[in-house]
Amino acid sequence: MSAGRFIYLTTFGTEKRLLLAVAKNLREVLGFDVRFSHLLLPPSVGYDPRRKQHRGSALLEHLSKVYYPDMLKFLALIPFDLYEEGFNFIFGLAKLGGSHALVSTYRLWSGEERLFFERVCKEVNHELGHTFGLMHCKTPLCVMNFSNTLQEVDAKSRFFCERCNKILPKP
Ligand SMILES: [Zn+2]
Ligand SMILES: [Zn+2]
Repeated sequence: MSAGRFIYLTTFGTEKRLLLAVAKNLREVLGFDVRFSHLLLPPSVGYDPRRKQHRGSALLEHLSKVYYPDMLKFLALIPFDLYEEGFNFIFGLAKLGGSHALVSTYRLWSGEERLFFERVCKEVNHELGHTFGLMHCKTPLCVMNFSNTLQEVDAKSRFFCERCNKILPKP
């Protein structure tokens, strides 16, 4: 619904090297330029003290109030562990065709920076793909493959297959 041209990326205490890697990835894979959003996220939003996790949909709803005039999509990198009803944890969340998406970096961590950054970029591209109307895809290597384990994240690429790519808007 937005006429904006920029993908907004939250900074939420995320290390700068990772932010720059994600921004570069978004320019390469989706072709859109990135702007940084310095808003603060109260840590209590969506927190379940019993599970010691944050509920993804509560965070997404909270963040859905954020709009910038030149915003096309909004992607929040969340340092917390996220869950959703029916799932012990989730890597990320977005509404199909929505404007907002989030990705938790919590379980994507690897001792190796390159692999960690790669995983985050894949999940960011996947969730943004949903906001552009893409459903899950079974084409090998396509980033829109559903992944529920790190093995599945590592098995796909950060790129969209030809069929998914045709659905994406061009900058
Ligand atoms: Zn998905
Ligand atoms: Zn695909």
